[in-house]
Amino acid sequence: MDKPSLLPLLDARLPLTEEGIAEAARLAGVPLAQAWGVVRYYPRYRGLPQGRLLVDDPVARARGFARLLEGADGTHPPLGLEALSPIHVRIEGRERYVEYQGHRVPFREFRLPFHLGHGERLLPPEPILDLAAYERIGGLQALRSLLGGRLSPHDLIQAVEEAGLLGRGGAAFPTHIKMRAVAQGEAPKYLVVNADESEPGNFKDRFLLEHHPFLVLEGALLAALATGASRIFLYVREEFEAAMLGLEKAVAELKEAGLLPVPTEVFRSGGLYICGEETALLESMEGKRAEPRLKPPFPVEKGLWGRPTLVQNVETLASLPVILKEGPRAWRQREPKLFSISGDVARPGLYELPLGTPLGEALRRAGAELGEIQAVLLGGAAGVFTKDLAFPLRYRERLPLGAGAMVAFGKEVDLWEVLLGLAQFFREESCGKCFPCPLGTAVQVEMVRRRERSKALLQDLAQTLKGSLCGLGQSAYWAYASLLEVEGAA
Ligand code: SF4
Repeated sequence: MDKPSLLPLLDARLPLTEEGIAEAARLAGVPLAQAWGVVRYYPRYRGLPQGRLLVDDPVARARGFARLLEGADGTHPPLGLEALSPIHVRIEGRERYVEYQGHRVPFREFRLPFHLGHGERLLPPEPILDLAAYERIGGLQALRSLLGGRLSPHDLIQAVEEAGLLGRGGAAFPTHIKMRAVAQGEAPKYLVVNADESEPGNFKDRFLLEHHPFLVLEGALLAALATGASRIFLYVREEFEAAMLGLEKAVAELKEAGLLPVPTEVFRSGGLYICGEETALLESMEGKRAEPRLKPPFPVEKGLWGRPTLVQNVETLASLPVILKEGPRAWRQREPKLFSISGDVARPGLYELPLGTPLGEALRRAGAELGEIQAVLLGGAAGVFTKDLAFPLRYRERLPLGAGAMVAFGKEVDLWEVLLGLAQFFREESCGKCFPCPLGTAVQVEMVRRRERSKALLQDLAQTLKGSLCGLGQSAYWAYASLLEVEGAA
C-alpha cells in the first residue's frame, strides 16, 4: 500500500469542490473519473440532510414509525441505537446531536449509555477506557507473552483452534483457518478489523469499540503478530464517532507505552451497509465503490491491495485475549457470545450468554414477558422472524443466528410494517453490481407493501434473489418468508 487511500483524502477536503476532488484523485493516484464515481456513490460526499431525523430501525417501526416520523424531517438508517429506540438525530449545519430521553448529546460524544447485562466473564460491566485500568483487570497479559517469546504465533493459532472460535460477524467461519491461511501467505500482509456493524438490531461491536477499545486492540495486535500482518486498519462505521475517537486515543496510549508492535490506524468506513461485506470493504479502502468482489480468490489470499489480508470481526478479535487468559478448553466449555436484545423487553441492551442458551431464556433475562411476545426477529435484517422460544442460540442450527441480534415484538405490533422497513432497507442498500439484487429487492418492497401472501410469488422472488452475487441479495427475502411461516403457525 504505497499510495494514500482516496476516501480519507476526500474526507479531508469536505465540503467537496471540483478542485478538491481533482487534488484527492491526483494524490491517490486514481483517474479523475474514478474519483467522481466514488463521490457520487458514498452518501457523505453528497451532503447531509438538514433537520431532525428519526433513526429508522425495527424497534421504531414497531412503535408506530409513521406517527413518530411526523416529528422528523426524514429517516436515518439504523445506527446501533435500537436499545434506545425510538431516537432522534438533530442536524445543525455540520454538527449532529443525539436526542434521547430529554438529553441532547453531541453525536461524537455519544456512547451507548448502558452496562453489559449479565455476566462479567468476557467483559467487566463498566467501560475500560485507559491503559492502566485495562492492565488492572489483567489486560495485555497475552500480548506481553507473545512479545516476550513465552507464546509463539503457532501456539496462539493452535489455541484459537482448540477454543473452536467461530467468526462473530455472522458467517461463523472458523477463525483459526483464516489466521493460518494468512500466516502462510507472503508478506506484506494486512489485518483489517471489520467494525462496520450496520445490521439493524445489532450493537455489540459498537458497544465493544466504545467501552472496551483496549480489548479490541489487544485482540487485533495478537492476530496481526500471529499472522505476520505488518499493518492494522480498524475499518469503523462512519457514524461511530465516539468509538473512532476512543480507538485513536487508545492507539496513542499503547504507542507511548511501547506496546504497539504493529502500526495501527482507524479508517472511516464508506457509510453503506454493503461496506461490511469483506470484499466490498476492501474495495472502499482501495478508493473504489464498495462493490463485492467475486470469490475466490478470498481476502486471505488476495485482499487489500492484492496482498493476503485477515478481515476479522470486532467481537471475534476481542475474544482472543480472553481465550488465552482462560485457556482454550475452559473458554470452549462456556462459549460466550454477545447478544444485542431490543424491542419489547424491559431491559434492552447487550447480554453475554453462552451459545446454546434458549431464545426465551435470553429474552427473559432482558425482562421480556414471554407470553406477550408475538415473534422475535433473530439475526437482524438478514435474519428471520420466529416464535420458537426454545430455539437454542447456536450457530449452524435451523435458524440463522447472524451476529446475535434479537428484536422482540409484542402482540400489538404490526409485523408487516416492520417487514416493510427491512425490505426498504435492502432496496436502499443494494449496491447495484449484479441485477438479481436491485430487481428482487425493489419487487419485494412492492410485494410487502401489498401484503402479498402468495407462496408461489414468494418462491419466484426467492429464486431471483438466490442468484445474487453476495449475501445481501441472497438473504434479503428470509425475513419475508419467515413472516409467512410465523403467520401460518399462528
Ligand atoms: S447482491 Fe446486491 S449488494 Fe451484493 S453485489 Fe449484488 S447488487 Fe451488490
